[in-house]
Amino acid sequence: MGERKGLILIGAPGSGKGTQAKRLQEQLGWAHISTGDLLRAAVAAGSELGVRAKGFMDAGGLVPDALVIDLLLEALAAPAAAKGFILDGFPRTMPQAEALDAAVSIDKVIDLQVPFSLIEERITGRRMSPSGHVYHVKYSPPKVEGICDVTGEALYQRSDDTPDKVRERLAKFEAETRPVIARYQSKGIVVAVDGVGDPDEVYARIAAVL
Ligand code: AMP
Repeated sequence: MGERKGLILIGAPGSGKGTQAKRLQEQLGWAHISTGDLLRAAVAAGSELGVRAKGFMDAGGLVPDALVIDLLLEALAAPAAAKGFILDGFPRTMPQAEALDAAVSIDKVIDLQVPFSLIEERITGRRMSPSGHVYHVKYSPPKVEGICDVTGEALYQRSDDTPDKVRERLAKFEAETRPVIARYQSKGIVVAVDGVGDPDEVYARIAAVL
């Protein structure tokens, strides 16, 4: 347990955490754990957790810590995460960071920085494949409009990827997640990475600091 590697990708909604975490997963063979993806899967499955989480997610708010922490600890215990893990979208609050630090050790926190002025366009143009692949209508469109290149599934837009929800989510980021970044800065493990540019450029910057 002591030898496994733990990485956190932290940043505002739309900063590219999911895109970069998927690439890191492919390159490093570590588990990509996105609490947002896990929660969306729970909502889609209609599980008890999904039913409880849906309202908070639809409002652009945060799902209560207790629910998310349980979900995360379960994912960390899976065999896929034995070698290492990349956290995407967790921790988002101080209690989540405290629960995480009590359970595992974190080697590095990548703080993916994108100016808020770019975020709305990034998020409202985002399109998702049910299998988790992510596109942007302008910056990284699929080969055939509305269809996932990899799986052929129909793309959809997240219900919280609208301008008013984006504002709400950014406000939550400022209020709840900024202090989490400061927590890890005080431990000396945060590296700021410029998240502006195409995904290959951003990935190269991340790879350079790992
Ligand atoms: P994401 O895909 O990371 O943007 O997450 C989508 C939504 O799921 C968020 O807007 C929250 O409502 C919820 N969510 C995901 N991760 C967390 C978390 N760590 N804490 C609380 N809510 C979360």
